[in-house]
Parts: sequence; C-alpha cells; structure tokens
Amino acid sequence: DQLISARAVRKAYGRTEALRGVSLDISAGEKLAITGPSGSGKSTLLLSLAGILRPEAGEISYDGRRLDDLSEAERTRLRRREFGVVLQFGQLVPELTAVENVALPLMLERHARASADRIARGWLERLDAGALADVVPGELSGGEAQRVALARALVTSPRVIFADEPTGALDTVAGEQVLVALYDAAKETGAAIVMVTHDNRVAARADREVRMLDGTIA
Ligand code: ADP
Ligand code: ADP
Repeated sequence: DQLISARAVRKAYGRTEALRGVSLDISAGEKLAITGPSGSGKSTLLLSLAGILRPEAGEISYDGRRLDDLSEAERTRLRRREFGVVLQFGQLVPELTAVENVALPLMLERHARASADRIARGWLERLDAGALADVVPGELSGGEAQRVALARALVTSPRVIFADEPTGALDTVAGEQVLVALYDAAKETGAAIVMVTHDNRVAARADREVRMLDGTIA
C-alpha cells in the first residue's frame, strides 16, 4: 500500500522541462534512492514529492490525498508534521545554537520550550552530536552541521525523510557517519527515506534505486 504516489508529473522552469511525465510509487518505510546525472531532474522530483514545488501537470498523492487538493494550511501542516527535509548544505539558522535549530520544528508546532529542548537534545545524542548542542553552526564542521540538520529533520518523527544529497558536501568518512545515522533513525521510527544521491554506495544501500535521465525515469 502506497504512501506516496506520483502520476505523470511535469514541471518546467521557463523553457527547461525538468520533469517530463514522472510516475512513481513509494511505500511506507521504503528507502528509495534517486540517482542520475546532474540536471536530470532529481532535485525537482524530490521537492515536488515533498510538496515544496508545485508541478504544472500530473498528480502527487500522499496517504491517498492529492497534494493539490489540500489547502495551503493543510500542506504546511503536512510538511511540518509528516515530512522531514534535509538539503545538501544543511541550511541551519546561523544565529541559533544546534539544539535551538533542532527544536525549531517543535517550537513551530507550539511545543513548550522545555519539552522541545529535551526532545531536541535526545535526537542530537542519537546522532552522536550531543556535545554540539550549544554550538552555533558557524563553528561546526560540515559533517557535524549535517548531523544537526538530520536531527532537525527527524525531531518530529516524520513518516518520510526527503534528503537531497545529504552527504554531497562531506568527505567519505563523515558522509558514511551521516548515512548510518539516517538509516538507523529511520529504522527506529519506520520512516520512509527518499534520497537524491550520486554516490553508488549510498544507492546500493537503499531498498530501490530510481534512475532519472532527462526529466524521466530511465
Ligand atoms: P538534478 O537535481 O538532477 O541536478 P534539477 O532538478 O536540479 O536536476 O534540474 C533539472 C533541470 O532544471 C536542469 O536543467 C536545471 O538547470 C533546471 N533547473 C532547476 N532548478 C531551476 C530553477 N530554479 N530555475 C531554472 N531552471 C532550473
Ligand atoms: P542539484 O543538482 O543538487 O539540484 P543544482 O546546482 O542543479 O544542484 O541546483 C542548485 C540550485 O540552483 C537549486 O535550487 C536549483 O533549483 C537552482 N538551479 C539549478 N539550475 C538552475 C538554472 N538553470 N537557473 C536557475 N536556478 C537553477
């Protein structure tokens, strides 16, 4: 039974057709790798599945509901509660400490500060980043920042984690640590992972690999 279902999805930026009719089903708890050459539409597909970009044609459903039938408030709620997103460069808020960054999605959901802080510290510890709680992003290494970003994506226990090259900016060892942390956390919570990657070893660990070529699934 399908958690996410995309049918004939099309998305263009001006004259560039980034997605030319993509259909894809993702089951609950599945680990999916999206691979393919640069410019083939991987990021556009990921952002469309996550409800961040709106395709011009086709449909994307989550849990049986079409994303384009949801109100803006419902889409926001879905993105905050059910989805966790990690991008290549982490995108932490520079003014906030690591633990404040991780607690942010909970604060947006009106959790009390003390409980948000406790839950956020718990996720940092699980990602081997407990000691970084009070450090600001500017003082973190790339791998550390990426683990903090991962903790922030996991803190709401999302049903789907969308990750765009989460190890792209890291060396092999740091990338490996981030991935192991991501897979362990997903195993624990039963979350699905939808990940864009150009690393074959990363793709090999997924349950399934979907290869993009020129805006379609090859
Ligand atoms: P990938 O992730 O596989 O590198 P993208 O989804 O980023 O592919 O891009 C697919 C195509 O769409 C590329 O030709 C890219 O240059 C173009 N593209 C992506 N984002 C934009 C944008 N914001 N504006 C214009 N063109 C874009
Ligand atoms: P990736 O391959 O990881 O998507 P890109 O370098 O293709 O990385 O894209 C990085 C960012 O630049 C994305 O936000 C994408 O939407 C945007 N982008 C990519 N191609 C173009 C383009 N031709 N014109 C404008 N923005 C673009």
